[in-house]
Amino acid sequence: MDISYIINELGEDRELYFNAVAPPIVQTSNFRVNTVEELKSLFADEYSGYLYSRGLNPTVEILRKKLAALDGAEDCLVFNSGASAIFAAVLANVKAGDHIVSVDKPYTWAQKMFDVVLPRFGVTTTYIDGTAIENFERAILPNTTVIYLESPNSWDFKLQDLEAVAELAKAENIVTIIDNSYCSPLYQKPIELGIDIAMQTATKYIGGHSDTVGGLLCGTRAMMKKIFDSEFLNIGSGIQPFNAWLLIRGLRTMPARLDRISATTRTVAAFLKSHPQVEGILFPFDESFPQYDLARRQMKGACGLLSFYVHAQSRARIVAFCESLKHIMMAVSWGGHESLILPKCASLSAEQFDPAIQEHRMLRLYTGLEEAQYIIDDLSQAFLKAL
Ligand SMILES: *Cc1c(COP(=O)(O)O)cnc(C)c1O
Repeated sequence: MDISYIINELGEDRELYFNAVAPPIVQTSNFRVNTVEELKSLFADEYSGYLYSRGLNPTVEILRKKLAALDGAEDCLVFNSGASAIFAAVLANVKAGDHIVSVDKPYTWAQKMFDVVLPRFGVTTTYIDGTAIENFERAILPNTTVIYLESPNSWDFKLQDLEAVAELAKAENIVTIIDNSYCSPLYQKPIELGIDIAMQTATKYIGGHSDTVGGLLCGTRAMMKKIFDSEFLNIGSGIQPFNAWLLIRGLRTMPARLDRISATTRTVAAFLKSHPQVEGILFPFDESFPQYDLARRQMKGACGLLSFYVHAQSRARIVAFCESLKHIMMAVSWGGHESLILPKCASLSAEQFDPAIQEHRMLRLYTGLEEAQYIIDDLSQAFLKAL
């Protein structure tokens, strides 16, 4: 399906709402039925129609159709956050006594679920270095039901060979889930590579303006219905109509924004790489990246996020650098219009900081929609002042 068609037309029945170009926000909690028979069938299968907005809602429906098509999937569920999407996807596919194989250092709240929540129900997790397929083979146990992936990881950008993992998992009857937030389906299509569930935070590139939180899962109709019937309805963390509308609006410009951000990131990456205060950069599409060939094979693009290591003898120098930036903001998240920086050493005390450990000198930069030179000038003056 043509991406322009998906973004501009798919799922939009404009004749139903006065031929308005922008879809309506159907801000209702419940839907009237005309017959008891209708009610009976909705009670039997809430996935079949509109009953109550904790389940299905027409504004959200438009978004679901577009997101499923972008991922090349049969179906999609949209949640109130990426974290709740992860939670529902995993919970729907484990029971007491089951085992999960997860890549090292997944997104914070995925890791919290594996380490804190699931052990309470007898579900255990083994973390592996996902850069080698043998590590998956070795970690799989007879009771493994889920393999959890994040490729690229949003800090160190480590990749997994998605086709190889999918093939292995299928042979062992294991459900594969990937956090595809870094690439989005515009730059990587996990479903086409055989992964069962593709998760994304919609807060980042889909929303694109740092003004809404959301998340989604894509997969087969059967898998999405299974999740809808239990976790989705039970946790009640579906997205609200207004937020769904903001995400539809975000989608309209997503390809253009990602093109722009990709180009700017390349320019900023080249600047950082040649800067005397920078030891090196970590970026999947940079030739120095350890898994560069896999990145080129598996991903159509890489954009806004990169990490770099500065030469700094103390934590104070890195703090001074971050606090000297005039335009690039210090904040969590990414994917919006604004450039952002996060120093790894924020989670360390001055005593814990060890300049011999490269990771302590790591900063993550997100390049937003500003002019490349504007971002470079800001970094330049902070380097001069602080490092
Ligand atoms: C932000 C993020 C999430 C979580 O999404 P929320 O919408 O904030 O809940 C998950 N994975 C990655 C890689 C993220 O960056």
